[in-house]
Parts: sequence; structure tokens; C-alpha cells
Amino acid sequence: MSYTIEEITRIIKAKRIGDNQTIINWLLTDSRSLSFPDETLFFALVTSRGDGSKYIADLYSRGVRNFVITNYENQILAKFQSRGISPYADANFLEVENPLKALQKLAAYHRSQFDCPVVGITGSNGKTVVKEWLHQILASSKKIVRSPRSYNSQIGVPLSLWQMHSDADVAIIEAGISQPDEMGALESMIRPTIGVLTNLGGAHQENFFSMQEKCMEKLKLFKHCDVVIYEADNDLISNCMSKSMLTSREIAWSRYDMERPLFISGIQKDENETTISFRYLGLDNYYKIPFIDEASIENSIQCLAICLYLMIPADQIRAGMAQLEPIAMRLEVKEGKNNCLIINDSYNSDLSSLDIALDFHYRRSLQKGLKRTLILSDLLETGQNTSTLYRRVSQLISSKQVQRLIGVGKNLMNEFSKFSTIEKDFFNNTADLIEAIQLGRIKFNHESILLKGARRFGFEKVLEEIELKRHETILEVDLNALIDNLNYYRDQLQPKTKIMCMIKAAAYGAGSYEVAKTLQDRKVDYLGVAVADEGAELRKVGITSSIIIMNPEVSAFKQMFQYSLEPEVYSFHLLDSLLNAAEKEGITNFPIHIKIDTGMHRLGFMADDMPELVNRLKNQNALIPKSIFSHLVGSDSDVFDDFTKDQISLFDKAATELQAAFSHKIIRHICNSAGIERFPEAHYDMVRLGIGLYGVHPSNKPILKNVNTLKTTILQIKDLDKIETVGYSRKGVLTRNSRIAAIPIGYADGLNRKLGNHNGFCLVNGQKASYIGNICMDVSMIDVTDIPCKEGDEVIIYGNDLPAEVLAEKLGTIPYEILANISTRVKRVYFLD
Ligand SMILES: *Cc1c(COP(=O)(O)O)cnc(C)c1O
Repeated sequence: MSYTIEEITRIIKAKRIGDNQTIINWLLTDSRSLSFPDETLFFALVTSRGDGSKYIADLYSRGVRNFVITNYENQILAKFQSRGISPYADANFLEVENPLKALQKLAAYHRSQFDCPVVGITGSNGKTVVKEWLHQILASSKKIVRSPRSYNSQIGVPLSLWQMHSDADVAIIEAGISQPDEMGALESMIRPTIGVLTNLGGAHQENFFSMQEKCMEKLKLFKHCDVVIYEADNDLISNCMSKSMLTSREIAWSRYDMERPLFISGIQKDENETTISFRYLGLDNYYKIPFIDEASIENSIQCLAICLYLMIPADQIRAGMAQLEPIAMRLEVKEGKNNCLIINDSYNSDLSSLDIALDFHYRRSLQKGLKRTLILSDLLETGQNTSTLYRRVSQLISSKQVQRLIGVGKNLMNEFSKFSTIEKDFFNNTADLIEAIQLGRIKFNHESILLKGARRFGFEKVLEEIELKRHETILEVDLNALIDNLNYYRDQLQPKTKIMCMIKAAAYGAGSYEVAKTLQDRKVDYLGVAVADEGAELRKVGITSSIIIMNPEVSAFKQMFQYSLEPEVYSFHLLDSLLNAAEKEGITNFPIHIKIDTGMHRLGFMADDMPELVNRLKNQNALIPKSIFSHLVGSDSDVFDDFTKDQISLFDKAATELQAAFSHKIIRHICNSAGIERFPEAHYDMVRLGIGLYGVHPSNKPILKNVNTLKTTILQIKDLDKIETVGYSRKGVLTRNSRIAAIPIGYADGLNRKLGNHNGFCLVNGQKASYIGNICMDVSMIDVTDIPCKEGDEVIIYGNDLPAEVLAEKLGTIPYEILANISTRVKRVYFLD
């Protein structure tokens, strides 16, 4: 499907300047993502982050000739000396009031040309997984168009819809909203015939009065649907559905209510698969999925309901479900051998995801000055003619300036002549490529390598060959996950509530500087460290955010003044010394933070100190109370809720007393991570986020993303007879002939010695390996008798699949201690997109 520029002008009701006859195939909103200049129409969107018209000159120089703008006079003509003549003589400018609305209008028109079923998916979590899984189940029998990755916004949806074509049997489109009133615009573009509501979480809560308001807004997507699919057991969703007066049919599914159209009669979890039984239209049936977590079960049921409605045969549903694959949401960046950078994209294999990955690859390689190499397998795109498909691939590759191509698969082999100008090699299959690498016929050096393979090509084996294996223990820190966690908490705050992030103890082990830098870039209001030295170090490396010192040492006042580090003040003694020091230096209005003890009984002024404290603060001008705060002792547990409420009211009273004495606003804060979630009424002016930022959920809900992964590698493996023992004091007694692996991590790295002697375990190739014998200072031994593994294999001490909480439980401690105890000699490796 393509449109002439005249047609588009008519559809979006634009005023056209220019008379170049062109055909448009591609819509562009981000100038960095340009692929096919001749056939591209650029929409110069005006957003809070910038004005798209700034990029017109650059795009023109790269060959783009078609632009949608708001004001030709201002944006084009006014830029040139000789007014009245634009130097872009051969370009078309389509002038409209609002380029975003024009983009949406065009997408809506395009969508209206087709009458295949359109599945519209909305909800807070699970949209992308449901979309991709549905695609995995249906792909064997239907031609599908779907949103790339999670293109679900006001801009992403039109770009997704633009992909619809006349051969498609089904379109699957995600719709995401962050503000009230957005869904109407998405609905009128998508016009879904099948509506799916996945689930509702707290994301983007700040702009909605209540969950109910948010739910009602989401339901607007279903205004013209033939059928709506949702979980009937969720009271909020059910209530909203009945209030919404939608006239569509419903496939509400329930685990408890047999009267619902889709009754889930049984969920049976085994070691690594779940069997789900259901009754639909009076018939009993079942399917299995290779996952056991709740989210996957729920997502699979949503897919089931859609398939049932589409009348997909039961055996196809069962076959598809059994083979569902996990969805890798992110591109993985790894270190390669010979100074290479590896970008691994196992998300899926089609043209639009190749485009996105190449984009990322291009930007990354520029940052590092590396040659761009692409290792690509055949695309398993259904419904496109191979020759057209690979012509597109070839154009994409050259527009994203790939310098070296390694193609794997029969189709790429056959089409190799299409890739004319670059360094290239082709292989029939993955095994041949691996052999060539092992024999040194294919070498990589100083390259940025994008690995993009369909799953069946098993590119993880290629990754294994080219990835740099470090024979050492490292702590991997996923800063993307940290940002996601920050946003998870931010979404629960009122827009005006400030946020302080606690980065004491080297950011709970993750590393102060990188975490501070990441948070500073995300504009958090304060960083909290324990001692002045930590703050000074951050200043020296360029951290400019406001920093609070929680335990200010009397010996470090000078440092605090010099580096603007704002101390917590918790006693009269501290107040007097600080005042003294400040006055000596002739300092005025130095910000301090008043700590109130409301029940922790650690540090802080008591409630009856307030009158004297106010008095002392009033009678000087060296220091100024910038904030007042207290710390909750049990905000994570409802056992202490009464106590917590008492703490809050004591704090409230103290804060009011202090504020009454000053005319400037004094910031109040009391909530830590658990408090943020459990006591929204006590957010006051600021909250202090700690453990949740690092991915440990204070109340064990798995919504947060894992940030720290402590990993190492197997140094040596030994087969031992059962009469042998392992380690110091012959503690590691064998009960059978065993395979024992040694790993380079010990208690000097922060691995707690009490995990030894089978008290704890790590993961080798995904399986549990328990620590045998005593843990040594630098090395530990693990039992791998039942685990296929070899020397050099990776060992996870803790991470996503083995949370720090599990280790904490084995040790009778809290995850905070596990995180903070990793020694500084363990190298930290950071990831950030
Ligand atoms: C560490 C700390 C926090 C953060 O607590 P979490 O439970 O990790 O969220 C908040 N306030 C103070 C004063 C702290 O010392």
C-alpha cells in the first residue's frame, strides 16, 4: 500500500507547497530513524522535548523531500535571507494546524481501508507479551500485522497502523495511555473489533484521580468493538465494565464463576510448565504453557480467549501454547572478544524490529567509534515475497550504514546479490558460521556486532563464541531497570511531590557514581548519602544534584561547606557544633535538614525538643532549615500500621510547629520505599526511595525489575569419589560420587560464609547448585553432579532468577545486607540503553 502525495494532502486536509510527484511508503517522526528518504514523509511534530522542524534541513540533505509542518512562512521561508524563495525547490511541504493530528488522521484513513479483525490491546502490564504470544500462536495459519515492540502511544499507534496491508488476516495493535482523554484519539484510529484489557497496575497513576477513572478511560478503546475480553475476577474491571454500557459481546473469563463465558476450571503447576483447563461453549479442554508464573498464566488466558473468538482450532491453540517463547523486551548489550561490542536482539525477526535494532546499533557504534557489523538470519516474515523482502532488508542495511554483513540461512544465501556494496559472507546455517569462527576464517575486531536471528537459528550459540568471558566475579548493574523502578515509584506520587533517592552504602552496592549520574539525568530532587566523604567524591566527579548527608561527622563540616553537602541535624550537640563552624567561616543560610525521632529511637530530636529547637534556629542566620523529616520503623508490615500512623501524626505536629516559625516553605518527608506504596497520605512534600530503586520490593511483589546481578564463572571441575571431602576441615562430606566445581568468589568478595555446607545455592545454567563445604576467602565449591556444565560456564550468585531475598532468607537477614556487602574489589559493569 502506498499513497501519492496528492492523496495524502487530501486525506489530512493540508495546504500543499511544492509540486514534486512522489509516492509515500514510510512515515517518519524521529529524524534519527530515517531509512528510505525518497519514499518518506516526515512529520515535524512539536512536543515538550522539541520542535521537529529543526530537523528539516538535515533530512533534506539526506534526501527527504516530503514534510508535514505547521507554518511554512515561519518554519521555512523565514529561515532564508531572500524571503519568498525557499531553496528546497523540489520538496513538498504540507501545511496543517497540528502535524500529530495529521499523522493520526492519515493512520485512521489507512486503517479504514481494511476490514480484517483488528485486536486492540490495552492495560497497564502485559500488552506486549499478549501481542507477541498471540502472534506466535496465530502465525502458522494467518498473516499478521502487529505493533513493533511497544509502539503504543499517540505517535506509536499511527506508525503501527501504517503497516496494515491488504494481505493481512489480522492486525494486533497495542494502545497505551498516560493521561486522561488520550484513549479517544487512539480508538478512532485503531477502531478495534476485538478489545482486550490485560491488567491494571499503578503505571501513570499520577494523572488519574483513581484507578476507576483510569479503567474507565481504557475502556473507551472498546467503544466500537464486536467483543471485549477481560478478567471477570478483577472487581475493579468488572465494575467498570458494567458501568461502561458497552454494547459489545463479552468474553469475560473467570477462575471461580462457572457462569462466565470462559471458565478456567483448573490451573496445575508443575516444575516448569502449567496445565490450564477451561470450559467454553459447554466444551472442556486444556492447554499447557512452558511457564509457571502468574503473569504468564494470565497472559496466556487472554490469548486463549482471543483465539477462541477467532475460532482457531483447539489443536492449533494447544500446539501454539506449548511452544510459547519468552519475550525479550530489550536489546541486550554485551562485551565481545577483541574489543567488540555485541548487541543481541532476540525479540523477534521481522523488518520493523530489524529497523529498530539497526537504529540502536548505529547510535551505539557511533558513541564508541566501532565498525558496524550485522549478523542476520533469514527473516521469518510471513506473507511477503522473498525478493521484495530482501530488497527492503538491503536498503535498510545500507541506510543504517552497516559496513559488514554476515547472513545465515537459505533465503539470504539465495538473495546475496542484493547486498552489493558491503563486506559480506553468507552461511547456510548457524553451525557453518560457528565453525568458520572457530577455525578463524571469520574474525571480529573492534566492531559493534548486531546479532539478529530468528529463534530457530539458535544465535545464542553464536553469542557464546564471540562474547568475552571474564574469568572473574562481576556485579552487573542494569541501569535501565533502575530507571524503570524509579518510574514505578514516581508514578505513585502527585506531580508536585519531590523525590530523594538514597544512594548510601555505594548505592546499596550498585556503585555511587553511575547510579548518581543516572538519577541526576532523570532529575531526581535529592540524593542521600551516609557520610561526607561519599558526597565529596560525587562532587569531584561532577554530580551537581542536591546531596544530603545522613550522618554528618563533626570533623567533616569544612568539606560539607566546600562542596555544598547538606547535613542532617539530629541533636542539639550537632546543631551547636555546626553553627559554630558555619559562623566561623562567615557562612549564612547554609541548608540543613532536621531529623525528628518519632519512634525509631536512633537519631533525632524528640517531640518535646521542638520549642527549644525552634528557638535556637530562629536566633541565628548561619543555618536554615530546608527540610524536616522522620523515619518509619515498620512501614513494610501491617502489623505496625497503628504505630506507623502514630509516627506520622507525631511528625506532622513537629513539622507544623517548625513551619509556623518560618516564612519560607520547609519540605516535609517521612516515607521510605515501603511507605511510598503503603501510605500515600503521608507522601508530604517529598519521599525517600531506597531499596525499591534497586529492585527489591519491600513487600515482595514482583513488579520491580532486578538491577544487580552478581555472577562469576566456573574455574575448574573435578569428579570425586564419594569417600573424598571438599574444602577446609573436611566439612564438605560427599554422599555419592560427585562433580564439584570451584568458582572464584569467597567471603572476601561479600559472599556470606554461612551459605556454605549446603545452606545456600547459586545457579549454573539455570539450575540450583548448592555450596559444598566451607566457603573460602576467595573461592567456593559447588555441587554440579546433576547439572550439565563445563569450565568457563557462567554462575549466577544472585540476580533475576535467584533474588537477593532468597539468600537473605537462608541467612536470616534482610536483602539490604546482601546488597550492601559486596566488596569493592568486585568489578561493577553497567548497562544503559
Ligand atoms: C536508607 C534510608 C531510606 C530508604 O529506605 P528504604 O527502605 O531502602 O526505602 C529512607 N530514609 C532514611 C533516613 C534512610 O536512611
